[in-house]
Amino acid sequence: MRLTVLGCWSPMPRTGGACAGYLLEEGQTRVLIDCGHAVSSFIGRHIDYNRLDAIVLTHLHDDHQADVYALRQAIAIDLRLGLRQGRMPVWSLDQPAAEWERLQMPFALETHRYAPGDGFTVGELAFATAPTIHALPCAALRVTGGGRTFVFSADTAPSPVVTEHARDADLFLCEATYRRPGDGPVNIHLAAAEAGAMAAAAGVKRLLLTHFHPRQDPEAQAALAREAYGGPCEAAVEGRTYEV
Ligand SMILES: [Zn+2]
Ligand SMILES: [Zn+2]
Repeated sequence: MRLTVLGCWSPMPRTGGACAGYLLEEGQTRVLIDCGHAVSSFIGRHIDYNRLDAIVLTHLHDDHQADVYALRQAIAIDLRLGLRQGRMPVWSLDQPAAEWERLQMPFALETHRYAPGDGFTVGELAFATAPTIHALPCAALRVTGGGRTFVFSADTAPSPVVTEHARDADLFLCEATYRRPGDGPVNIHLAAAEAGAMAAAAGVKRLLLTHFHPRQDPEAQAALAREAYGGPCEAAVEGRTYEV
């Protein structure tokens, strides 16, 4: 299984970058996890968007879904021109209801709703999900394929449920929005050391941090997380591919 980071910023991209977007590949299966601001601009460096098997959204905040609106329009045009066959499957939570409704474009998108706790399969990848602690309903993803396990925290405050969901993962992609606890609104996101503590408690084999504010230094975030975790820990780099 291979993970390519298309974007790692929130709530807006650093200049020349993108918000949440991750290409996950196993065998012939290619899934885009989240599709925030500017992600559509970077997919083409790695894959033709028409070769994606599905888009999986962790939640319906704009930094995780905004560019689906660009992609679906491009897909609709491709369908009209006969450049692709079939709609793009999108897996998403159905809350908030207004955002779920806004996502619908039946000509271009085949939307599948799931609830945190549900499981589903895309090609060679099996997804298990768990609820996170966040401002909106949000799901952490545990993905297995090719004998490996990848876990993505999505957006969350410190959570024993997400920690358990990450148990023994080969690669744990975890948000680290704040430098120190208390730097932002409480009970929505993680500080770097909190991400490290969750990784340690879950016994994951590697930790990859993401979801940085554009003014932050990701390397400094990684140093703080590494202290709390004690294992191999890096800050995600856009355009880089990681073997799971
Ligand atoms: Zn969010
Ligand atoms: Zn976010």
